[in-house]
Amino acid sequence: VLMAHWVPLSGEHGKRGTVAVFHDISDMKRIETMRRDFVANVSHELRTPVAVIKGYAETLLDGALEDVPERGRHFVSIIAGHAERLTSLINDILTLSKLEARDAALALHPLDLCGTIRKAQMLMEDHARTKGIRLTAACPESIPKVLADQGQLEQVLLNLLDNAIKYTPDGGDIAIRTRQENKRVVIEVSDTGIGIPPKDLKRIFERFYRVDEGRSREQGGTGLGLAIVKHIVQLHGGEIAVTSEAGKGSTFTVTLPAA
Ligand code: ADP
Repeated sequence: VLMAHWVPLSGEHGKRGTVAVFHDISDMKRIETMRRDFVANVSHELRTPVAVIKGYAETLLDGALEDVPERGRHFVSIIAGHAERLTSLINDILTLSKLEARDAALALHPLDLCGTIRKAQMLMEDHARTKGIRLTAACPESIPKVLADQGQLEQVLLNLLDNAIKYTPDGGDIAIRTRQENKRVVIEVSDTGIGIPPKDLKRIFERFYRVDEGRSREQGGTGLGLAIVKHIVQLHGGEIAVTSEAGKGSTFTVTLPAA
């Protein structure tokens, strides 16, 4: 997209003219559109739970609380569920905007990747087990350290594992594998879950993009987890990729520079 500025000129001997200066504003336009879409999406996402909470609270005030206590309890639990959802949304939105605001300010240190992976495994193991899913991690001790912000890298692993658990049915397997490739370290998180259709693969890292909105909601998803993951990985000078087969499972691959 080009934007033109007309600049009047007055030359020698009183000759006059106009020169057109063109600026390429494609990037500016794209960023502005993305920002506007994001604000619209955020408002929509926040409004939905608030509307539900308001609706049920009003019904309770209108008498549902006294009339049928059983129903009243049920409504209160729906309110609590949507309040929890609002909390997750607000937390994820804040995480994303903090990531954007402090681009240069990651605390990068040489980090023992295997230790961080073991910690993430430990934190998610129970959650996986209650869903009947086996979570294993392999990390050879020869893996070099990576230059990373420990808290942020943990967040990457936790988000990927949380998704793997959310989208894998009972009896499935989740595996973390790690290997070195030249001066880079590769971390793979694979699951035997529902997989992602090819047409959605490119878009799942976008904010609020979900393959199946109902399913994501039901699982307590916000649609922001992978956007956060991608942002953190890029701030580390790394890359993230995904391969998947619908009905078979998915593999997310994070590549980070070795320290
Ligand atoms: P959500 O909160 O909806 O899980 P994410 O940004 O974490 O949001 O993921 C975006 C979408 O990508 C999800 O809604 C889901 O459709 C898909 N997805 C992410 N991880 C997996 C996975 N391991 N298996 C299948 N689908 C996944």
